[in-house]
Amino acid sequence: MKAFEATELYFTRAADHLQLDDSMRKLLLTPKRQVQVQVPVEMDNGELKTLLGYRVQHDDARGPMKGGLRFHSDVDLDEVRALATLMTWKTAVVDIPYGGAKGGVNVDSRSLSVRELERVSRKFIDQIHDVIGPDTDIPAPDMGTNAEVMAWIRNQWEKYHGFNPAVITGKPVELYGAKGREEATGRGVGILSFKLLRRLGRNPHETRVAIQGFGNVGSHAAKLLAESDFNVVAVSDISGGYYQPDGLDIPDVLRYSLDHQGSLEGYPHAQRLSNEAILELDVEMLIPAAVGGVIHKDNVARVTAPMIVEAANGPINPDADEILEQRGTIVLPDILANAGGVTVSYFEWVQNRQHYKWGLDRVRQELDSVLSTAFEEVWQESQQHKISLRLAAYVIAIRRVCYATKLSGV
Ligand code: NAD
Repeated sequence: MKAFEATELYFTRAADHLQLDDSMRKLLLTPKRQVQVQVPVEMDNGELKTLLGYRVQHDDARGPMKGGLRFHSDVDLDEVRALATLMTWKTAVVDIPYGGAKGGVNVDSRSLSVRELERVSRKFIDQIHDVIGPDTDIPAPDMGTNAEVMAWIRNQWEKYHGFNPAVITGKPVELYGAKGREEATGRGVGILSFKLLRRLGRNPHETRVAIQGFGNVGSHAAKLLAESDFNVVAVSDISGGYYQPDGLDIPDVLRYSLDHQGSLEGYPHAQRLSNEAILELDVEMLIPAAVGGVIHKDNVARVTAPMIVEAANGPINPDADEILEQRGTIVLPDILANAGGVTVSYFEWVQNRQHYKWGLDRVRQELDSVLSTAFEEVWQESQQHKISLRLAAYVIAIRRVCYATKLSGV
């Protein structure tokens, strides 16, 4: 099942629960605008390449649309549309005043030189600058793009429209970026895992955790969880898994990763495991923080952790999700679990608009407050209606967008 099919399935379940009529369903699922553009780029060797770029603006009932820009060879209109829809529900579930959008260019960013990457970024913005803006649609980094790309994009957009750093988030901290943006998604995963644990009446030091993926999200989540007294017993990256039944020394793992260009390959103080085996470990909490679709109908029987926190987007396929639900596994869904990043992006936009910089403590405090409120709302909805946390999150998000749509008048 593709990402957009899963999103639509969860939407339909929530819409059934809310008894939405067909016309409202159609309105909520149809993107406001889809743009496909030609991105002609001169490569370093003089060759002219014509790439395809997209921006899908899904919904703006609750505010300007927000979502990342992905430079990847899988980018197409279907994928971008599904991700834009997901952003609408993600911003709504944490109740930040945004709608949802997503965009990208169909190109493998790793195959480009730095100058080629800059030319792709600027040329793409030449084509879409008039549909994005601080009051309409605010892009951010995603796969294949980073803070430097955001700096070029801002610079290119400002050539047309004048100074306004709030047009894009995820910028370098030195250039109107927000402190704490880099750690925000992983930190959010840590904050929410703690909230979940408290609600289930468990203690961090009795909670063994396995984390798949030790990139931006996984490593920051591991750091916060270890600081909060969780027992992180296993982590992994593309090179495989690293397991220490008595608990890993996370500061040591982080140092090792920093010293080895972000890789855990060869980490000496742990047993080696495969990336599949890490999902099947005897732990209380599993955090998939790498890629989508890693828990599926063929391995779900062996995934025994009673709590799963979806740090990655879509790590559990819907068929496996159903089996987990029947078994009583508590799943904290991606639209809430990894919303820390977009929340701090919102803080960046707020700071840019106020021309006022927040310190790291304030960013962390406000992030904690937004995510804690969202978690409690989802928890209460789930308890009240005896539904999964995933369905509760979708119900809250869709209800908010629905109200905003009705209140504004169609
Ligand atoms: P990243 O590229 O920094 O890290 C990915 C990690 O996963 C790396 O350690 C990599 O080695 C590992 N990995 C890659 N393929 C793997 C595989 N097949 N098996 C096991 N490990 C594998 O990415 P990230 O920014 O940490 O994002 C991780 C996930 O979180 C993605 O699904 C992303 O869409 C999602 N997400 C990220 C953010 C954010 O702010 N970075 C926000 C929301 C959602």
